[in-house]
Amino acid sequence: MSAPAGWEAVIGLEVHCELRTATKLFCGCRNEFGAEPNTHVCPVCLGLPGSLPVLSTAAVELAMRIGLALHCEVRPSVFHRKNYFYPDMPKDYQVSQYDEPINVAGYLDLPDGSRVGVERAHIEEDTGKTSHVGDTGRIHGAGYALVDYNRAGVPLVEIVSEPGITSATQARLYASELRAILVASGASDGRMEEGSMRVDANVSVRRVGDLELGTRCEVKNLNSLRSLSRAVDHEIGRQVAIVEGGGRVEQQTRHWDEDRGCTVTLRSKEEAYDYRYFPEPDLVPLAPDAAWVEDVRSSLGPMPADRRRAVVALFGAGGASDARADQVATVVELGLDHLVVAAAGAGIEPALALARTANEAAADAAAAREVDPAAYTALLQMEQRQELSATQAKAVLAELVTGGGAPVEIARRMGFEALAAGSLAEVVAAVVAEHPGEWERFCGGEAKLAGFFTGHVMRRTEGKANGKAVAAELAKLQG
Ligand code: ADP
Ligand code: MG
Ligand code: ZN
Repeated sequence: MSAPAGWEAVIGLEVHCELRTATKLFCGCRNEFGAEPNTHVCPVCLGLPGSLPVLSTAAVELAMRIGLALHCEVRPSVFHRKNYFYPDMPKDYQVSQYDEPINVAGYLDLPDGSRVGVERAHIEEDTGKTSHVGDTGRIHGAGYALVDYNRAGVPLVEIVSEPGITSATQARLYASELRAILVASGASDGRMEEGSMRVDANVSVRRVGDLELGTRCEVKNLNSLRSLSRAVDHEIGRQVAIVEGGGRVEQQTRHWDEDRGCTVTLRSKEEAYDYRYFPEPDLVPLAPDAAWVEDVRSSLGPMPADRRRAVVALFGAGGASDARADQVATVVELGLDHLVVAAAGAGIEPALALARTANEAAADAAAAREVDPAAYTALLQMEQRQELSATQAKAVLAELVTGGGAPVEIARRMGFEALAAGSLAEVVAAVVAEHPGEWERFCGGEAKLAGFFTGHVMRRTEGKANGKAVAAELAKLQG
C-alpha cells in the first residue's frame, strides 16, 4: 500500500541486530538465547562497583562486517554512556556509540532497484529483558515484573537508515534485505521471533511537493516483517487523518499493538529521556587499523544481491523471468543458491535446478544447506535423464536432505529401479493392444485419453514408469 492521494510517507528504520559472538560485549559471559534466566551474568554485565569492561574483538569484527557489507566507511569511534534508570539496565547506563560511530554513510540496494542510505551502524550493548506478569503482558496492569540479565551486555549493532523509505512495502523490503545481509555476513542469525533482529520504524507524512519533513513518530515493538508493514501502513493513515482533520502530529514514541492492529502512545516528546551522554571513561577509543579493515573486507563473501544475480545469470542473456524472481529470492534467502549454481554448472537445466531447490529442498532448508552439492547434482541428473520420474526424484530428494547418501542408492532402496527403455515400450504396446476402442479415439484426436493409457502403464509398472517417457512411446505408436 502507498500513502493516500496527495500525500507522501517518509520512513526511516532503526534496526537492532544481536551479534553472533560466543561471549558478551564487555565480559566473558556466554551470549546464548534461551538459557535459564540469570545464569549468564557476572560483575561486569551486572555493573557491580569496581568491575571493568574489556571490549570483545569478535564483536568489533562482526560490526565491521556489517558496515562493510552496507558499503559504509569504517571510522575510529568512541564509546559513550547513555544514562537512564530502568530495571533492565543494572548499570543504570548503556554503553553505546554516540557522535562517533564505527560505521557511517553506507547504503543498501533493494531488489526493486531502489537504494536506501544508511546513516550509521554503531556498536552498543543490549539490555536485560523484563517480563511484565499480568493479563496484558505489558507494564500497565502488571502485578509484578521479572528481569533476566542474560541479555544484558550482549553485543548489538544498530543500523540507522536515512529517512528515504516511502512505503510500508519498501520498509518491509528493506528489512528483509538487511536481514539477508546480516545473515550472509555471518554477523547475525536474523531471527526476528527470537529478538535477534528488532526493528523500530520512524514515520512521518507530508503533502506531495513539500520539501520539509513532517513530524515523525517512532513505532516500537515490531517483531516480524508483517507487523512492520502493518504498523507503518496504520501509522501513515493515522497521521494523514490528523493533518487532514486540521490537527498536528505530535512527536511521539508509539507501541504497535499486534492484536488490535494499531499503534498506541508510549511517550511524547516532553517525556523523552535526557540521556546525558558522556564518553565512557573505562574504554579507550576504538580505531581498527587499515590492515584489519581490509582483512575483514576481503573475507566477506558475496552478498545476497550478488548471489541473486549469479543465479539469474544461469538463465542466459534473457535472465530469469519475473515468475522465477521469487524462486531466486527464496534460494538465496535460504542459503541454498550454491546448490542451484553447482547443478547448473554440471549441465542440469537451470529451471529444473531452481525449481527443485526453491520448492523441495527449501522445505527443509537447514538440512538442505548441508547436502553435498555433488550428490544433489547427481540426483537431478537422474531426473533429467528420466531415470526417475518427477515424483520419484522429489521422494529421493527428501531422503537425501534428511539422511544424506548417494541418490542412486537411495533410489534403489526406495524401489525406484528405472524401467529399462525396451521394457517400457513393450508395456505401452501391450496396453494399447488391450484397449483398441480407446486407442482409436485417442488417435482420432481425443487427447485427454493420454491420461487413460498412462494410468494403465503406471499400474502395470507399479509407478516406475516416467510420465514423459510414456507420452513419448504413445506418440511413437501413433506414428
Ligand atoms: P533518534 O536518535 O532520536 O531516534 P535520529 O536522528 O537518530 O533520532 O533518527 C532516527 C531515525 O529516524 C532515522 O532512521 C531517521 O532516518 C529517521 N527520521 C528522522 N527524521 C525523520 C522524519 N521526519 N520522518 C521519518 N523518519 C525520520
Ligand atoms: Mg531512535
Ligand atoms: Zn558478564
